[in-house]
Parts: sequence; structure tokens; C-alpha cells
Amino acid sequence: MKKLIVFDLDGTLAESKQAIDEEMAHLIADLLDILSVAVISGGDWSQFEKQVLDHLPANARTSNLSILPTSGTKFYRFTGQWAQVYAEDFSESERSTVLQSLDEAVSEAGLLETRIWGDQIEDRGTQITFSGLGQKAPPAEKAKWDYDHVKRNTLKALLDKKLNNFAVRIGGSTSIDITRPGVDKALGMRRLAEQTGIETGDMLFIGDALYPGGNDAPMRDAGISSIWVNDVAQTKLVIETLVKSNGGQVSLATTN
Ligand SMILES: [Mg+2]
Repeated sequence: MKKLIVFDLDGTLAESKQAIDEEMAHLIADLLDILSVAVISGGDWSQFEKQVLDHLPANARTSNLSILPTSGTKFYRFTGQWAQVYAEDFSESERSTVLQSLDEAVSEAGLLETRIWGDQIEDRGTQITFSGLGQKAPPAEKAKWDYDHVKRNTLKALLDKKLNNFAVRIGGSTSIDITRPGVDKALGMRRLAEQTGIETGDMLFIGDALYPGGNDAPMRDAGISSIWVNDVAQTKLVIETLVKSNGGQVSLATTN
């Protein structure tokens, strides 16, 4: 029997950047009653608060919940209140190398946009993210900007040359993420094992991007038991099954 259920966030527990719905909030609480649960995502802590934590029922057993922002390079646990256990932040020199290279590469690639929404560069401590049109650009503008990946492939090629000691990845619809090499969700799972004392063999991962090249694929490549879901509705069915098969109770009738 698995002891710890790990979820991806966007596309799995909730629509991209949206809050979990009431049904999902109750299902997560039902699961927390009987098993340990973790959520891992490329987003930062504030995103987990907005999308998940603010919506859980007041009686949810959050002491059984681990939160792993920025692909597990940060780790939060609830001990009376939410507290950061660790953050593998860039050093000052790593940070300035990345920011300088990014400035150069963006202008060399001709991607200095005249109209942006919010900051184009976001420093998440353990990860620096470039968003072509800014963090808060409207989805319709984002969808048009680099639909064929040409802009980001150009930028990535320039960055790969300048940043030998870092990993440069294309993500989202307009963004590029820069981390230390080897930072992915599988590393997050190893950190989770260290923190909880639960071996990766006793974990089950549930995510929507387990296809080759997807940001959940490192889980499968690392040999972690995984369930590939198409959408939030399928995740609900999986949770309901997990709750019932582990002797728990579903508190709110599911509608699908
Ligand atoms: Mg996802």
C-alpha cells in the first residue's frame, strides 16, 4: 500500500493557475484523513496559497500535507502554521550571472517587447523565469506570442551558450525557466523522501504531463509509480478510489 500520494498542481488538481473547486477541496481533505499528501509544482509558494491552501476545508488535516514549490527546491510543512523547511536558493553570484546573461540574450534575440504586462523576469529564489510578455499578460496575447516556439528556441540557444552550468527549459506558453542543473520534479521527490522518511517506492504520483518531454516525465523516468490523468475530473475519480480503497470516507458526493 502506498503511504504518500503526490500531486502535480496545474492541469491535475486545478485548471492552470486557477483555484481548486469545492469538490476537489473536500476530496483532498478526505485523503488527508487517511494518508500523507504532497503537492509539487513549478510555481512559487504564493501560487499554492492562492490555488490550494486558501480553499481547503477548515478541518483539513494539513499536518499530513507537504508543499513543494518550484519543483521541490522549496519545501513547506504545517506545524501549527505553514513554515518553510528549506529553500535551495541561487547564490548571489549565480543569480547575477543568470540575470546578466538573460539581459544580454533577450536583447540579442530581439525580444525586448514594448508592451508587457507585469515583470518580464521573475526571481523565485531557486529559479529565474523569463516571461516574454510579462507575468500578467492576457492568455490570448500569450497564445499568439510564440505559438511556433521560434522565439524561445532562439533565446534558449543563446542562453545555453552563456549559461553552461545551469539548466534552461522552455515552459508554459511564453516562458523560459533557469535553474541549477538536475532540478526537476524527480529531485523534488528525493527531497520529499528525505524530509518525510517515506521511501520513493511507497509514493504514488498523479499528474497530467507524464508524456515524453512533459514536466512530470522525470517522475516516470526515475521509476516512481505514476498515474497519468487527462484532466481534473479524472484526478477526482482517482482520489475517490484511493480514499475508498484505503478505508476512508468521501464526504461530498462527486458530480462526474
Ligand atoms: Mg501539470
